[in-house]
Amino acid sequence: MNLPLSFEFFPPKTPEGVAKLRAARQQLYRLKPEFCSVTYGAGGSTSEGTFGAVKEILAEGMTAASHFSCIGATRTRVREQLALLRTMGVKRLVALRGDLPSGYGTGGEFHYASDLVAFIRAETGDAFRIEVACYPEVHPQARSPEADLQAFVTKIRAGANSAITQYFYNPDSYFRFVDDVRKLGLDMPVVAGVMPIVNSTQLMRFSDACGAEIPRWIRLRLQSYGDDGASIKAFGLDVVTRLCEQLRAGGVPGLHFYTMNQSAASVEICRRLLA
Ligand code: FAD
Repeated sequence: MNLPLSFEFFPPKTPEGVAKLRAARQQLYRLKPEFCSVTYGAGGSTSEGTFGAVKEILAEGMTAASHFSCIGATRTRVREQLALLRTMGVKRLVALRGDLPSGYGTGGEFHYASDLVAFIRAETGDAFRIEVACYPEVHPQARSPEADLQAFVTKIRAGANSAITQYFYNPDSYFRFVDDVRKLGLDMPVVAGVMPIVNSTQLMRFSDACGAEIPRWIRLRLQSYGDDGASIKAFGLDVVTRLCEQLRAGGVPGLHFYTMNQSAASVEICRRLLA
């Protein structure tokens, strides 16, 4: 497929999860991804697991991107972790603010992802390619769509190379977002984040938390399948493949799959895109 692909994983918590993720990665590597990334729990809660999975991906001969979130972190801690990532041979980061669980306050010496991007550039120059997050359907805590867009511009101008979107099921939100950032003079790639639909309860929970909208017709269809996992998966594959086709036709520069550490749905969507 001539469309660049990337796959996102989270650090598994158990030996069984580690083994499952290794197997999933091998399936996904056949699609020749540009890179694979590993999420990083806010407050550094998963740094060991994140860096462990990143090390494995590098050892498997693939390009790895480590996510890196700054909320609750100190400059000293971030400096140490950047040094560690460089020693490991990591050259790509997904730089984020992150979300601390409620009750933790914000604390730390960084308020926004733009502070982290600026700090990484000041400390390490061009040692890392930096991706940042963006929200075609608007970040849930943004004061307004305009303020969110301005915050995104600030983050890019602080030194990010490209952006990956939160997932969405309405391609118009993506195309509108890209138009808006182009009008503001930004020309970096905006890669679309793609969430395969595998488990409807989990998807509804995630989407409520991160502000990604599930269109009514998709929500109702998923609800109507109840516990019928096979129908949910079949419907999800059709919907998400169609979304990716629309994005490809509209010139998306890449697709970033939120794999949830599973390979089957991402592999099947890519197979259909190739067919
Ligand atoms: P920011 O860009 O800092 O934006 C956060 C909010 O602050 C937005 O509402 C924005 O409009 C506002 N804002 C920004 N700058 C300013 C300013 N100067 N003044 C006023 N308001 C401002 N979370 C994790 O914990 N770990 C991960 O590994 C992870 N990976 C992710 C990967 C992708 C591709 C995406 C899309 C999200 C990921 N997240 C991850 C979730 C992310 O951390 C949350 O969405 C978080 O709430 C915002 O992070 P951000 O980097 O986009 O923050």
